[in-house]
Amino acid sequence: MKKIVLLSGKGGVGKSSITASLALMLSKKNKIVIADCDVDAPNLALVLGVKQFDEIKGIEAAEKAVLIEEKCIGCKKCLNNCVFSAISWDKEKNKPIFDHMRCEGCGTCEIVCPENAIKLKRIENAKVGIAEKPFPIFSGQLNIGESGSGKVVFNIKQMAEEKAKEIDADYLLIDSAAGIGCPVIASVTGSDYAIIITEPSPSAFNDFKRAMQIVKHFNIPFGTIINKWDLNKEFTEKMEKYFQENNIKILEKIPYDRKFVDALVNLTPIVVYNKSYEQLFEKIIDKISVS
Ligand code: SF4
Ligand code: SF4
Repeated sequence: MKKIVLLSGKGGVGKSSITASLALMLSKKNKIVIADCDVDAPNLALVLGVKQFDEIKGIEAAEKAVLIEEKCIGCKKCLNNCVFSAISWDKEKNKPIFDHMRCEGCGTCEIVCPENAIKLKRIENAKVGIAEKPFPIFSGQLNIGESGSGKVVFNIKQMAEEKAKEIDADYLLIDSAAGIGCPVIASVTGSDYAIIITEPSPSAFNDFKRAMQIVKHFNIPFGTIINKWDLNKEFTEKMEKYFQENNIKILEKIPYDRKFVDALVNLTPIVVYNKSYEQLFEKIIDKISVS
């Protein structure tokens, strides 16, 4: 099984649209599994036309501080040491109040409490929606106000990998979040190949380079797709020069096409909305299958 991660550095460059079409085209000749690891804004399943998940499971990948009231002597050490301002004071009871939304589960209060009156408790901070069609999709979603997206991504990838092994899949596609934070690193680690999607603008190019640093750090071979390349031809030329000088493979250049927007609005991958795009995605598959 080949694990391919799609990332972009910058958001809004068309990563999920491209992933959806790539998945559909790959699935014509291969067994595939998808992990949507963009847990803050998961929409890959939507773009693939999944209206309802077959199953939804909770993920417990965060810890929160909980007070054992009868042990507390009101010394305020926890209040004075929480750097996340997750603790306020109940004057009437002379005891701390824990704000679960703010608590990062760092464990400082548990350590400083002289009475062992605080325990970290594992809580559900995310859900994963599982769909079986058009192919197995695992779509993670962080609960509102919760943190710990890196651990959530780790869990989702684990579930998707188990499924991929069970069905003897040829490919596992991982749709990473934008940016270069913890959930991106959790998405990238252990991948066999990375596709970094970018577009011709200084900010997208800068974010491309940051995403590339992560991929290089983990020694993962990679290529790039320049989306909407013709919106700024001059800048595309500049990027191409950089890619050539740095031996970076351009998997494809996708022109700007209003049909991409229409396909997205209609929650349909572009290769379904407009069959003429099939060839373009086949070319990408040819290139990644030999990488
Ligand atoms: S675990 Fe950390 S963030 Fe949460 S209440 Fe305790 S000190 Fe604050
Ligand atoms: S540190 Fe422990 S004993 Fe002191 S106020 Fe906090 S919970 Fe109570």
